Amino acid sequence: MPQDFQVLAPQIRLDITEHLIGARSPQQVCRELDVTLADVTDILTGLGHGRIGLRRHLTIEQYFRSRVRHIDGGHLLWLDWVERGVPVLVHGGHVYCARTVAWRMAHSTDADRPVTPGCPVPLCVAPEHSVDRPTRRTLARIVHDLFGDQPS
Ligand SMILES: [Zn+2]
Repeated sequence: MPQDFQVLAPQIRLDITEHLIGARSPQQVCRELDVTLADVTDILTGLGHGRIGLRRHLTIEQYFRSRVRHIDGGHLLWLDWVERGVPVLVHGGHVYCARTVAWRMAHSTDADRPVTPGCPVPLCVAPEHSVDRPTRRTLARIVHDLFGDQPS
C-alpha cells in the first residue's frame, strides 16, 4: 500500500461511517468514496447493522460530514451540490454555503461571510482551509507588510 493511502486509510473508514450515518446507500458510498462493497459491509457489520443502512434525522454537521471525502494533503472534498463554483448544502429546507457550515463547526461561532477557499483545491471545504473576511484582511495586511504594493 503506498504511504499516502496508509495515512488515509483511517480517514476512509471514517468517511464510510459518516456517509452511512448520512443515509447514503452502500452503493452510493462505493461510488462516491471509490471503495468496495466489502469495505462498506465490513463497517456496517462492525456497527451492528448488517446490510441495512443507517437512517435517522441528521444534524447539519452530520449531513455535512456525510457529503465530503478526505483526500491527500488534508483536504476535504465536497461531493454534493455546487452552485457557480460554490459548494452548497441544503438542510431542513434551507440552503447554506458548505464552507460557512465548516467554519461554524471549527470555530463554534458564525463566520463574517463570505467564507472562501484558503487552499488551491477548488472543492475543498476543510474548515481549516476556509477563510472568513477578517482572516482574509489579516492575510492581505501580512502580505502587504512583507512585499509592499505589488504592480498589478
Ligand atoms: Zn484544502
